Amino acid sequence: MAKFVPGIDGSQGGRKRLFIALAVITALGLCVLLVLAWLVPYVGFGRIHPAIPAIMFCLFGLVITAILAGTIILVWHIYTGKPCFGSRQVRGLATRLLLPFMELVARCVGIRPQRLRNSFIKVNNELVLSSAKPIAPKELLILLPHCLQLTTCSRRLTHNVDNCSRCGACPITDLLALRNKYEAELAIATGGTIARRIVLTKKPRTIVAVACERDLISGIQDTYPIPVFGVLNMRPNGPCVDTRVDTGTVEAAIRYFLHLPQ
Ligand code: SF4
Repeated sequence: MAKFVPGIDGSQGGRKRLFIALAVITALGLCVLLVLAWLVPYVGFGRIHPAIPAIMFCLFGLVITAILAGTIILVWHIYTGKPCFGSRQVRGLATRLLLPFMELVARCVGIRPQRLRNSFIKVNNELVLSSAKPIAPKELLILLPHCLQLTTCSRRLTHNVDNCSRCGACPITDLLALRNKYEAELAIATGGTIARRIVLTKKPRTIVAVACERDLISGIQDTYPIPVFGVLNMRPNGPCVDTRVDTGTVEAAIRYFLHLPQ
C-alpha cells in the first residue's frame, strides 16, 4: 500500500476544509429535502394503500442513511488519508453526484466556484495518492492540454507528440523528457472528447492530468473509476494561451505512482 504523501499538491493551494464543509452542508440539505419529500405526500400515500407509508418510510430512510454514511466515510477518508470499506465508491458518488449540488450550495452562500473546484482537486488528489496501487510505467498516462504548446509553434503534436523538436520554448520539452525518463505514456488532448478517446485507447491504470480547474474536474468525472491526479496549469497569458505547469509536481506524482523514492 502506498504511503500517504501530503506534500504533492497539484491544486495550487486548494483548501480541504472548504470541500468538507460544503459536502457536509450539502448532504444535510439533501437529507432535509428528502424528509420533506416524504412528509408532504405522506397522507396521500395512505389513501392509495395502507402499506405504502411504511414502504416509503423505509425507502427514504435507506437513501438518507446512505447519504449520511457516505458523507461520514468521505470525511474520514479525507481526514485520515486511509481508504476504508466503500471509500472508492463514495469517491465516485461525491465526484459525480455530490459536486454539482455542492456548486449550487457554494453559489447560494457566495463562495466562488473556482475556490470549490481548487478544494475538490486538492481532496481528489489526496484520495488518489492515498489509495494508489503499484503500477507499471506503461500503465501511467501523462495527459496534457494543447494550450501548453506555444501558440506560435507550428509542430502538430496531437497525433504524434514526438513531432516536438524540444526547442525548450514551452513545457512540452520537459514533459517529454519526463516521459522518456520514466517510460510512461504521454498524450496531448485538444478537448474533452479527444481526452476520453485517448483514455479509451491507452487504457491507463492511473492518469496524471494537467489542465485548468473546469477541464480537470470534468476529466476526473468522465474517467472514474480510473484515478486521476490533477495538476492545475498556470495561465500567465489568460485562459488557454501559452499555459505553463510546474513540472516538479508532475514528476513528484509520477515517482509516487511508480513507487520511486521522492
Ligand atoms: S518545445 Fe518547442 S517545438 Fe516543442 S511544442 Fe514547445 S514550442 Fe513547439
